Amino acid sequence: HKEPCMAATNSTATDWARRDARVVQHPHGDAADPDRLVLVRGKGSTLWDVEGREYIDAHAGAWLTQVGHGREELAKVAAEQMSALAHFTIMNDFANPPTIEFCEKLVERAPKNIAKVRLMGSGSEADDEALQLVRLFHYRRGQPQRTKILVLRGSYHGRTYGGAELAGGRPGIGEVPDGAIMLTPPWPYHAELFGGENLTDFCVRELEQAIARVGAENIAAMFGELVMGPAGMIPAPDDYWPRMVEVLRSHGILFVADEVVTAFGRAGAWYTSLDYHLAPDIIVLAKGIASGYVPLGALLLDGDVADVLDGASGGGSYAGHLMASAVASANIDIIERENLLEASRLRGAQFLEELRELLNLPVVGDVRGRGLMVGVELVSDKTTRQPLLDRFPNLKKDIDRFVRTRHGVILGIHGGTIALTPPLVITPREVSRVVDAVGDTLARVNIHTGRID
Ligand code: PMP
Repeated sequence: HKEPCMAATNSTATDWARRDARVVQHPHGDAADPDRLVLVRGKGSTLWDVEGREYIDAHAGAWLTQVGHGREELAKVAAEQMSALAHFTIMNDFANPPTIEFCEKLVERAPKNIAKVRLMGSGSEADDEALQLVRLFHYRRGQPQRTKILVLRGSYHGRTYGGAELAGGRPGIGEVPDGAIMLTPPWPYHAELFGGENLTDFCVRELEQAIARVGAENIAAMFGELVMGPAGMIPAPDDYWPRMVEVLRSHGILFVADEVVTAFGRAGAWYTSLDYHLAPDIIVLAKGIASGYVPLGALLLDGDVADVLDGASGGGSYAGHLMASAVASANIDIIERENLLEASRLRGAQFLEELRELLNLPVVGDVRGRGLMVGVELVSDKTTRQPLLDRFPNLKKDIDRFVRTRHGVILGIHGGTIALTPPLVITPREVSRVVDAVGDTLARVNIHTGRID
């Protein structure tokens, strides 16, 4: 995988790794681990490191580079907009054309009930804002006691204090408000969670019981990832969200669809809410919204919800950033022009078909996905469905490194599941190469020692 002419600097990976370890703290990183993958260039689904090694990107930089790397078209849009006017706040009565056009594009593609956009800087910020807004909504409508939030156990709604609250707290950060009511995740592979009952029937009943216990008059909203990402790429059965949302509606509980990961083709549609015929009160967006070319998040608001929240604060200094809006707008144009929603569905189907062979391996429990959110769940025992990586914690890194160094493939591992989330432009050949790399690696895992032989 070597292409020496690609080297960007004369420093070696080791030099950079040493400098990095001195000053950069990595989220989920390990300071004692000397390894660093120092990336310098990308094109489509290909990445190159500082020493010219080439990789297939099955990660997409946190599941977000929908249109692929190295899009000069986006660089040009950014340069032109930055030269004209990079940013001016949209607080009060300030407005600008790139932001208006971008918000029109978001709303045009959204479920019909969606009317307005609030611009944010990231998914976490948008989730946190949504948490404040659902409470503010009820407050303004004379029901300030509606503060509790329903969430799925194991879901992720960002890294802020609000996100920690939605996760039921996080060790070491002190008390978070007691708002989160945990529900069973709709995880078909783990039938033991549902006691033999139909998954959706079980979950709907559990929801109704939780509402009866807490009192609908105390509940502000439910937050849900339409396909659970960080928990392990878990699509719910098709009837799950429609039936859950129907129950919420009947109790005046708002529904917030966290589509930070699923939107913009990642799960095969502009918004997965459309696939399930949902009309969420708020849709949370980030990641693919600008394919990572600029950091950006947004909230889409239902028309009635938007009316109640009109004028509410929030939206910081960077809301309505002209350059970010222009780039994100061009990102939507590329997804449309190149039919990347369909590409996501086709390549996703190819992944599932080819990965199914791996179910013969002792460590592969389940293969699943929606669009290019593909998961391979690793187990130590196919009967008990115990997570392999709980038994052998070091194996996570070993798999990651083996796939990378032996096969030149970059992927992620989350919640005991290998996550395959490449740019939507990945080619059929590249899909097969990723599957071969994962297959070869998992075939070498010794289920007794947790080593790669
Ligand atoms: N919600 C979900 C479902 C996510 O997966 C993530 C990020 N992985 C976030 C919110 C937070 O987004 P960000 O990292 O942009 O803050």
